[in-house]
Amino acid sequence: MPTEKTEGPAGAPAAVVCPRCGASGPPVRTVAEACADPGSARSGLSDRLAKTPDVPSGSDSVMHVLEGMVLAGIGAGLAHSGVQHDKPPYTIGGTLLAVLLLVGTLVVIRGEFRERAAVAAGEPRAERVWRPAHHCASCACVFYPAGTPWPGPLTPDQFRKYVWTEAGFDQQIDERLRDVELPPGTPAGPSGPGGATGHA
Ligand SMILES: [Zn+2]
Repeated sequence: MPTEKTEGPAGAPAAVVCPRCGASGPPVRTVAEACADPGSARSGLSDRLAKTPDVPSGSDSVMHVLEGMVLAGIGAGLAHSGVQHDKPPYTIGGTLLAVLLLVGTLVVIRGEFRERAAVAAGEPRAERVWRPAHHCASCACVFYPAGTPWPGPLTPDQFRKYVWTEAGFDQQIDERLRDVELPPGTPAGPSGPGGATGHA
């Protein structure tokens, strides 16, 4: 664990001051606290500060398998009736439908599985840069009181892009976030595997 000097005199956290607007006290909270606030969920702030992307859960995948099976079963039924009634178009069409649905389901499930695996693998890296961050509600910025791993204030979008890039969640960085530019300034920590973006 990195050494963090945020302990105050009585073991209480020392007052953290926002480097952009100078606010301290209630408006300045850790990103974790800000995300845990029900108001942040309503305003969408929790999503903008999210540590990891939303990925389909295991039960979502189970549902998708079941749906695929039911639909493929319809195709198989069609093929079966084609065989029984000697109607080759039904047999061929039903078989094709069943095969396509099975393959499609497998592709979807594989993608979901990979996405979950990628997010699970990157979460410790995301945690490392997400946990020490603070959010200032007065000027809507995110910053690190220790000035590391990022030296200056960031917008919530810049912060999320930074965290997700460090964690290797490149695939999950959506269109909107892709256009977000991080301010000039090299992070103090070792850069993650996602640092492939060219420096101007
Ligand atoms: Zn501020």
